[in-house]
Amino acid sequence: MYQHIRDNVCRLRAEIPPDIAIVAAVKGRTVDEITVAVDAGINILGENYIQETETTRFDLPGRGKWHFIGHLQLNKVKKAVELFDLIQTVDSIAIARSINKHAAALNKIMPVLIEVNIGREPQKNGVLPENVFDLARSIAGLSNLRLSGLMTMGPNMPAQELRPYFASTRAIYEEIKCLCLPSVDIRYLSMGMSDSYRVAIKEGANMIRLGTAIFGPRR
Ligand SMILES: *Cc1c(COP(=O)(O)O)cnc(C)c1O
Repeated sequence: MYQHIRDNVCRLRAEIPPDIAIVAAVKGRTVDEITVAVDAGINILGENYIQETETTRFDLPGRGKWHFIGHLQLNKVKKAVELFDLIQTVDSIAIARSINKHAAALNKIMPVLIEVNIGREPQKNGVLPENVFDLARSIAGLSNLRLSGLMTMGPNMPAQELRPYFASTRAIYEEIKCLCLPSVDIRYLSMGMSDSYRVAIKEGANMIRLGTAIFGPRR
């Protein structure tokens, strides 16, 4: 069963340089499908939905790290802090403060990425590029958060046209690194999905998020 998932993971792992982290975007996939991907070598699972994670995560105990990659609402932060090892989609000081509060209550240091709305699209989540720096400084001042990098979706356009967006995100990433903020650990630049990961890697991504390329088309 699910031989295609095994084959996809092997092919991708052979193609993609080993220093680039692959996050399997598992929304809508079954525990069996996720298990096959993990057995084939995937060790980071990205989830968009809190509720889905509550069921899948506990069926896969100890199998890999879980990253939250969906849009986080304030009323879901407590659950997210309990369930996830890293939150990729922090895009406001309010969300950051709430994560900090719940992480402190659990005595946990939560690694987070700032989601950048690099295409400045009104309907998209993420902070505008010029606001990344203020948010990064604020997060650096929160004792139970550890700022670990940036994430972006980029506009929905053909991969080659995404190049400048990925390049600008990379530039912000390098700038944030150079700020040398206290108690941050900037190491992940999460950008690129199934149809754009090659371009993203060329533009400096070291973490890519793949759904379709691993599991096949969403049903
Ligand atoms: C679903 C999803 C992905 C993966 O999308 P594919 O095109 O299936 O690879 C990556 N990132 C986020 C935030 C997603 O929601």
